[in-house]
Amino acid sequence: SENADYRCDDFVVNDTKLGLVQKVREHLQNLENSAFTSDRHRKRKLLENSSLNSKLLKVNGSTTTLCATGLRNLGNTCFMNAILQSLSNIQQFCCYFKELPAVELRNGKTAGRRTYHTRSQGDNNVSLVEEFRKTLCALWQGNQTAFSPESLFYVVWKIMPNFRGYQQQDAHEFMRYLLDHLHLELQGGFNGVPRSVILQENSNLSASNKCCINGASTVVTAIFGGILQNEVNCLICGTESRKFDPFLDLSLDIPSQFRNKRTKNQESGPMCTLRDCLRSFTDLEELDETELYMCHKCKKKQKSTKKFWIQKLPKVLCLHLKRFHWTAYLRNKVDTYVEFPLRGLDMKCYLLEPENSGPESCLYDLVAVVVHHGSGVGSGHYTAYAAHEGRWFHFNDSTVTLTDEETVGKAKAYILFYVERQAKPGAEKL
Ligand SMILES: [Zn+2]
Repeated sequence: SENADYRCDDFVVNDTKLGLVQKVREHLQNLENSAFTSDRHRKRKLLENSSLNSKLLKVNGSTTTLCATGLRNLGNTCFMNAILQSLSNIQQFCCYFKELPAVELRNGKTAGRRTYHTRSQGDNNVSLVEEFRKTLCALWQGNQTAFSPESLFYVVWKIMPNFRGYQQQDAHEFMRYLLDHLHLELQGGFNGVPRSVILQENSNLSASNKCCINGASTVVTAIFGGILQNEVNCLICGTESRKFDPFLDLSLDIPSQFRNKRTKNQESGPMCTLRDCLRSFTDLEELDETELYMCHKCKKKQKSTKKFWIQKLPKVLCLHLKRFHWTAYLRNKVDTYVEFPLRGLDMKCYLLEPENSGPESCLYDLVAVVVHHGSGVGSGHYTAYAAHEGRWFHFNDSTVTLTDEETVGKAKAYILFYVERQAKPGAEKL
């Protein structure tokens, strides 16, 4: 059924561009000079050549026009595509990048974008921000049914070598790397990036943003940044210690009592809801013997309890459901359906000081969902649902289809993106 419908490898596009992409990957892997990865690469290439014809047929099959633009799969890159499509539908975030001047303008040169690549630091003479901007600009333009994000992926593979391989990767891990690197580069963490230009243009961003990670604030922390209060109590002397942890997303366990349930309609017992996952995240937890806490009063490691509160909610709340779990030798997938609201997720009861928040600022509406189809983390396929101007779309690599709320609600979500509902529309705009 669902698992059989989506196989990542079916969607690899074998056009002239793929040759280029393979050259890029080959080049990078030669640089790496790793016997292990190149061996895997060779095997993969053999497989690809043998199934070339079937793939071509698939690609020319059902596609929809609309104004939406798909993203080509460049060989198990659906985990990146699903994240990019989700982010591209988070308007505040996406608009920030689209409004950035193109790099040649930022450089004050008109000689073309190539000049930019000469600007820095050995191997890192590339700009993730610029390639991310170009990709976001290409989406939703309506003049292409699918965009090939090879120049973005080139930068991703260069600065995040762990995503270079041809095997399926974890979309959540990729999202964290992507956001962290965008944040770093926007701060001027790399040589030569004109930090001042970027921060000045968005002066109202820094004002609204109090949760900075690694120093300065950027659009990444302004949109996704929240703050957790981590409260630990020593079970021996009762001493309480609190610390504040900034976060860009929350990783939630699917409570163990729900882990064996498979489908939405499977009876026996209540259905797992997002609220169950949030509650288990914020519930008081007794840490076990393997996680002893260094109590400063007892001056030794003690048993303790831990509790999370949300001290500050973000503008965009990103919730990651921990579907992949390590057992002794394997990483297993928890395939439980988790019911989630499309509108009005109320976060008030998880707040440290709910009385300090406005009447509506704790309500969130769903804007995108990343779904993993298949059974293992190293296999399967990622797609995304996202809302654009009131309509829901399903993004499956190069194919984009119009869908509806009912279908979205049935998805076995892996990552959920919720946008804070504004009390007065337009009152606080980024
Ligand atoms: Zn103690």
